[in-house]
Amino acid sequence: MERAVKLRVKVDYKTYQKLREVEEEYREVLEDAMNYGLSNKTTSFTRIKAGVYRTEREKHKDLPSHYIYTACEDASERLDSFEKLKKRGKAYTDKPSVRKVTVHLDDHLWRFSLDKISISTKKGRVSISPAFPKVFWRYYNTGWRIASEARFRLLKGNVVEFYVVFKRDEPKPYEPKAFIPVDLNEDSISVLVDGKPTLLETNTRKITLGYEYRRKAITAGKSTKVREVRRKFMRLRERDKKADIRRKLAKLIVKEAYESRSAIILEDLPRRAPEHMVKDIKDKQLRLRIYRSAFSSMKNAIIEKAREFGVPILLVNPSYTSSTCPVHGAKVVYRPDGGDAPRVGVCEKGKERWHRDVIALYNLAKRAGDVSPVPLGSKESHDPPTVKFGRWLRAKSLHSIMNERKMIEMRV
Ligand SMILES: [Zn+2]
Repeated sequence: MERAVKLRVKVDYKTYQKLREVEEEYREVLEDAMNYGLSNKTTSFTRIKAGVYRTEREKHKDLPSHYIYTACEDASERLDSFEKLKKRGKAYTDKPSVRKVTVHLDDHLWRFSLDKISISTKKGRVSISPAFPKVFWRYYNTGWRIASEARFRLLKGNVVEFYVVFKRDEPKPYEPKAFIPVDLNEDSISVLVDGKPTLLETNTRKITLGYEYRRKAITAGKSTKVREVRRKFMRLRERDKKADIRRKLAKLIVKEAYESRSAIILEDLPRRAPEHMVKDIKDKQLRLRIYRSAFSSMKNAIIEKAREFGVPILLVNPSYTSSTCPVHGAKVVYRPDGGDAPRVGVCEKGKERWHRDVIALYNLAKRAGDVSPVPLGSKESHDPPTVKFGRWLRAKSLHSIMNERKMIEMRV
């Protein structure tokens, strides 16, 4: 498992120039290495390095030799991902082009200390002294180690962007003592913790639609290829903001599972949106966007977080989870006319009543081998408690939210 942390630092002109020289020659090596790989039909680092090392060494006498290694590695990675794009039909050129260069460093080319980071150049080492952002300390102080590889990139105005990579071994998943089923929906996520269902509002569909209107307003007849339009799209930061929400929610759920030594049960949703999943949206692109952020990307965010904590994940078949009775396996019928409780359904076989947001949770638990579904009482029809978007966003843990609610209930 690894995470890159970006450090930004303004350096003096001399330092910048020395790094600029490295970047220029690195780019040349990188381009040669990629051309070699292309004409010899290989993406292998070893073969590329064997093919170009001697000539590159001749051409770039003062460049520390390890830059040739890292450029070859870089070339091999770029060719690899280009191959993958091509296979998926997403490569728009027949040859990968080198536009932006991020110089890769190995353990010979840089040295880390909290006072300064030194980098090898053609004329000795230069040092930079970045200020470390909060996120850096979070990794630095919590059992991650700094990897021997790093990268830097040059920006305008003598600014260097340096990427420190943190690594950590994944903890071994434990034997679960309980299960936390998680049901993903377009505007919410429901979870079953200690047998209590809770709905966490995500508003994913609403948020995505909101962005869509703003995008439409920005475009207003113009092509999305126009630079100004693209820049405005970027400034919306839709992707970042949604990813941030997903990460926070994933962390909340995973921490709860970790502390109670539970496994998380998730629907094994496909990457492509099944027809029935995002309703009432005709625009294919938009439907896909909602599906991705509410379902598949959310699922991935939870899985990724769970791996970090060693929380076991059980993926179960997603079909009919909200229309099958978890006790009888019969069909649950929701009132076609809506009525006063449109989200309450009746089992065709046992006639017992189920709440739509809860039934999927029991079915998920059942498919993972845990059986303790509780139907609604004969008069009951209440919705599971909903936690508003802003509320969980600020919460330290799921438990604190649930305890708080218990207090309110007791007072009532
Ligand atoms: Zn039933």
